[in-house]
Amino acid sequence: MSPSPLQDEYVLHKSEYEPDRQYKRKYRWDYIIFFIIFHIQAIYGIYLMITSAKLLTTAFAFVLYLVALFSATAGSHRLWSHRAYKAKWQLKLLLVIFQTIAFQETLYRWILYHRLHHKYTDTNADPHNSKRGFFFSQIGWLMIEAHPDQIEKRKTIDMSDIKSDPFVRFQIRYYYRMLFLFFAFLPTVIPWYFWNETLTNSWFVAVPLRYLFSLHITFFVNSWAHFWGNQPYDIGTTGRETLFLSIITLGEGWHNYHHTFPWDYRASEFGGGRINVTTFVLKNIFGKIGWAYDFKTVSDDMIQKRIERTGDGSYSPSIWGWGDRDQTEENKSFATIENF
Ligand SMILES: [Zn+2]
Ligand SMILES: [Zn+2]
Repeated sequence: MSPSPLQDEYVLHKSEYEPDRQYKRKYRWDYIIFFIIFHIQAIYGIYLMITSAKLLTTAFAFVLYLVALFSATAGSHRLWSHRAYKAKWQLKLLLVIFQTIAFQETLYRWILYHRLHHKYTDTNADPHNSKRGFFFSQIGWLMIEAHPDQIEKRKTIDMSDIKSDPFVRFQIRYYYRMLFLFFAFLPTVIPWYFWNETLTNSWFVAVPLRYLFSLHITFFVNSWAHFWGNQPYDIGTTGRETLFLSIITLGEGWHNYHHTFPWDYRASEFGGGRINVTTFVLKNIFGKIGWAYDFKTVSDDMIQKRIERTGDGSYSPSIWGWGDRDQTEENKSFATIENF
């Protein structure tokens, strides 16, 4: 009997399923060598981008960065990992292609790691446990074998919805073929074919450089967003709020809110000055055309109660002016009202 696609997926990382109870760090040289080679190529890509690549090629690489980021924020993260909204097949198809361009492992594994991260934040069962340092939570976690606690706790994560998702199954079955086509081949030949870019420039700018740029920015949510920023919603989680990160990650920097209410499709308190491109696009484009629906949000009242109960006291919503519903009585008391 031939193995199912999901069994194939496990075979790829079979060694992870033989936990060493006496935890000793074991390096994953395949990943380490891969990352070293790609980082060197990305640096060369920066050189080519400055010296010889066409502006259109850089713009094309930038679009791929947006597409890759969007697949992580709207797809792997909010749709599949957290089930914060539902999507029709058209949007799922787009997201699965974009997610392959992003090359952040298969959707299945991405989701499993992310559900572990939320359920066991900052313990040894968290794949990118930020207690093990910035480098570890940024990219180092992919360079060593998983901690035995993580392997043990994987059994507690319900993945039945993901295992039965036809898009996830399709991607696992054809992952390497899809990766070759969407991650490597098309980004290299499109600039060459359509605007006479050299194949060398196309490859280095639109593949390794673009890839590592979007990868590191996505990974900042695992590292940076657990190190710096305030915790207005819940001091019990290490997720933090950072505006800059929210801009570059298309809205995933409101990480204290997200860890407090992981099933809110907005991944932030939308409005109140919270910049969130992914939320905006989901609501105003895919929501409007009906490809995304059943958006889950937390009520303002519940958010307010949570802020008072578990926040660090730093919460200060933006207000549009006098009489905004978020304007406090204390704020009003500062005003001088005059007639001339
Ligand atoms: Zn987190
Ligand atoms: Zn999440």
